Amino acid sequence: MLGVVQAYAFDINPFKKYDGSHELVLNDEATEKSAAMLASLIIHPVHEELTVRSFRLIKERKMPGHKVITDEMIDKTIRGVRWNDDPLNLLPDNPLVWFDNFKNASENSDRITSHYDLFYRSHHHDLQFLHAMASSDAEKAGDTQKAVMMWAEFSYKVASQFIPIHTRFSAMQQFLSPESFRIFKKYFMNEGLRKNWTPAYLFSLKCVRQKIDQNLFTPLDCSETDWLPAKETIQNIALGSLLHVIQDSFSDSHVSRNPEYEGEYSLIHGRSAINTFNAYTKQSWV
Ligand SMILES: [Zn+2]
Repeated sequence: MLGVVQAYAFDINPFKKYDGSHELVLNDEATEKSAAMLASLIIHPVHEELTVRSFRLIKERKMPGHKVITDEMIDKTIRGVRWNDDPLNLLPDNPLVWFDNFKNASENSDRITSHYDLFYRSHHHDLQFLHAMASSDAEKAGDTQKAVMMWAEFSYKVASQFIPIHTRFSAMQQFLSPESFRIFKKYFMNEGLRKNWTPAYLFSLKCVRQKIDQNLFTPLDCSETDWLPAKETIQNIALGSLLHVIQDSFSDSHVSRNPEYEGEYSLIHGRSAINTFNAYTKQSWV
């Protein structure tokens, strides 16, 4: 449990949602009890708060694009901000399933391969770039950076409509830079897997996998996935996913940045150029 507390020093609170006034409100009563218990232990709504504040700032200052910011857009972007932590959308309908699966992934992290689903790989295997982190201690910082930049390129191009949402992964080559496509292929189409996936499917997945016993779960059931999502929904989820990576890259537990401003990186006080990417598994579970 301690590990979970550390891991989520800078993460989401999936048990809360934003109403039209953008104030935090709890979900329905069914999830409130278990959610409140878990949330108080492990999760803080930093990603959501940062995202809402960013949108608010753009609107208040009438910065470019402020007119397209609507409550609906914010709502879907928040979903995207949660996606990196919950790519199977187990939350908020099944918060305990999320927790059981998360715990199981952490306890079996050394057995996870690229055949495992995105949830298992996001925090505990090779998709830790979704949190601006290295997959392991052995991974070179340059490789982590390339993976982070690949995700930034992919998610930005989906969000901005450059990549149509129904583009098959196998056809992604025509939309990504050669280097990004090489990395995209490595993580998402290894051994011919997921060739027919699309951004629409990736960002719409809605699954459940119940715990039956210690280490025993029902097969992954993704039958609730929305097969015909609105184009804007997918674009905004992709935007949220990009924001998640950027936000994580400013978390001290994920990334070590140079405290001295060098004139060409972030203007955020005490957080300039990136020195090292931390690894989630080592950081939290050893
Ligand atoms: Zn994260």
